[in-house]
Amino acid sequence: MDISVVVPLFNEEESLPELASWVKNVMDENRFSYEIIMIDDGSNDNSWKVVQNLQKENSNIKGIKFRRNYGKSAALFCGFDIVQGDVVITMDADLQDNPDEIPGLFRMVKEDGYDLVSGWKKKRKDPVLTKNLPSKFYNWTVRRMTGIKLHDMNCGLKAYRKNVVKSIEVYGEMHRYIPVLAKWAGYNNIGEKVVQHSERKYGVTKFGVERFIRGPLDLLSVMFISRFVKRPMHFFGVLGILMIMVGLAAAIWLGVEKIIQLKHGIVGNLLTNSPYFYIALTAMIIGAQFFLAGFLGELVSRSATDRNKYQVDQTTSE
Ligand code: UDP
Ligand code: MG
Repeated sequence: MDISVVVPLFNEEESLPELASWVKNVMDENRFSYEIIMIDDGSNDNSWKVVQNLQKENSNIKGIKFRRNYGKSAALFCGFDIVQGDVVITMDADLQDNPDEIPGLFRMVKEDGYDLVSGWKKKRKDPVLTKNLPSKFYNWTVRRMTGIKLHDMNCGLKAYRKNVVKSIEVYGEMHRYIPVLAKWAGYNNIGEKVVQHSERKYGVTKFGVERFIRGPLDLLSVMFISRFVKRPMHFFGVLGILMIMVGLAAAIWLGVEKIIQLKHGIVGNLLTNSPYFYIALTAMIIGAQFFLAGFLGELVSRSATDRNKYQVDQTTSE
């Protein structure tokens, strides 16, 4: 199979029929063998009914319905689990991403050898103040922090070599940072393609102001997860042990110094009167805290994936 199109959707009933027939036309014109995987992320409108009907008309469509809203990341992750195409295309369900871009993206992966090609909504058709400007600032920051030179990291329209999506785990809110995850999984050939973007035709955006809080926090966690999550204990634990050792060494030094003083008959201040004593004590206490943080981090990182794992309710093949 040439292409798997993965479409996460949450309350997009009006857009789906148009999207399905447009994608089909593009695939047929280019003689691609394909599947469209529509993941209903717990919609409470008629989206699932629409998906089921579309599947009856076109057997290349596969539908999956989540029991509740798990978020776009979980929906993508679920799609990635079952894709069969050599090239995987993700696109939003709301017709803002243009299916005519699929052949170009496909060729960049298949012929030019990119592992991942990210769309760049150069002429973005979204509100300037709430979407475009924050996005520019966000992308600038992410470029600096990750060293991945993309203008539009979070563009919903992307193409991947199949191996890439099979070797990353997208949970929580990580869909915003898939190129970062891919790079850390060892896929360095990341490209960018200017894509057309349209205004939302039906329905409303599913990402409100809460993303201004979630976005930066996720960036921190993505930085952290990619580097340390396998062993957070190694980072905080080592830091903690170092601080405890420094504190301990200082305390021993103070003790030895006191003994030497006493031996020479110098009766100075009490040990607890020395400021160094408190610095040593503080270092040990903070060290113990770091060590504990590392230990908790280890526990959390081991259960995070399971906790966020989606649950499928129905599929169209049932
Ligand atoms: N989406 C989803 N689960 C969610 C929120 C959004 O599957 O919890 C889907 C949504 O239906 C759309 C895509 O993710 O297909 C992008 O969402 P949206 O268009 O609302 O984001 P925007 O374009 O406004 O950034
Ligand atoms: Mg949209």
